[in-house]
Amino acid sequence: MNGNAAAEQKSSAKMPVIFVGHGSPMNAIEENAFSRAWMATARNSPHPKAILSISAHWETDGVQVTAMPKPRTIHDFYGFPQELFAVQYPAPGAPELAHHVRDLLGVEAVALDQEWGLDHGTWSVLVRMFPEANVPVVQLSLDRKRTPSEHYTLGGKLAALRSEGVLILCSGNMVHNLRLLEWGDQGFDWAEAFDLKLKSLIEARDHAALINYPKLGADAQRAIPTNEHYLPLLYALALRGSAEPLKFFAEKVTLGSISMRSFQIG
Ligand code: ZN
Repeated sequence: MNGNAAAEQKSSAKMPVIFVGHGSPMNAIEENAFSRAWMATARNSPHPKAILSISAHWETDGVQVTAMPKPRTIHDFYGFPQELFAVQYPAPGAPELAHHVRDLLGVEAVALDQEWGLDHGTWSVLVRMFPEANVPVVQLSLDRKRTPSEHYTLGGKLAALRSEGVLILCSGNMVHNLRLLEWGDQGFDWAEAFDLKLKSLIEARDHAALINYPKLGADAQRAIPTNEHYLPLLYALALRGSAEPLKFFAEKVTLGSISMRSFQIG
């Protein structure tokens, strides 16, 4: 086996990293192009031993990782049908994985959490990807005190998990402005244009530009008015190996100002 083939075999043994634009929580219970794409992505990937989810919906002071054996399903939204509030995602936790994540990120910097659980950034996607809820799930919080560059650095420290059967799910939306939300299946021109700009930077592996997103022109502010839905993207990018393929499996802007763009690395 020559060097390239050996390297390729090694990289194929790694679990993929997935960034999902999760959008509306209704995707958990609606049959649509997004939920179908999530199902297909799980079906076409190796079955994980565990999942580490980095969700836009868990911001904390300092980094936290869920360490309870039975995380609860958190319905962290309002104004949706009762059917959605009735969804439970009873996947087990993985306290030993939580400890391992803490070790990888730096023991003193990470707190083990017993209170949170699985918010809809995690379960609205996983209920489609792994409906049996039999893969243990741990969530990692977004430390609101850290800069985008620091989030990117943290993401890179998780790389070893990919060789240990852990699927890393990064769940947010690259363009996300709820204030400008408009009911409908189309995106505003500016949102479409900004989404495509992000796509080309991702394809060019220009991570520096993506970390410094406020400098991406006049539309950066309305595409990313707050960055909690954008930051999971930086964790995913930090985990991309230098020769690894990246495949988009959803590429649509919907509700005016929500990009559902999603991709798989590896
Ligand atoms: Zn969200």
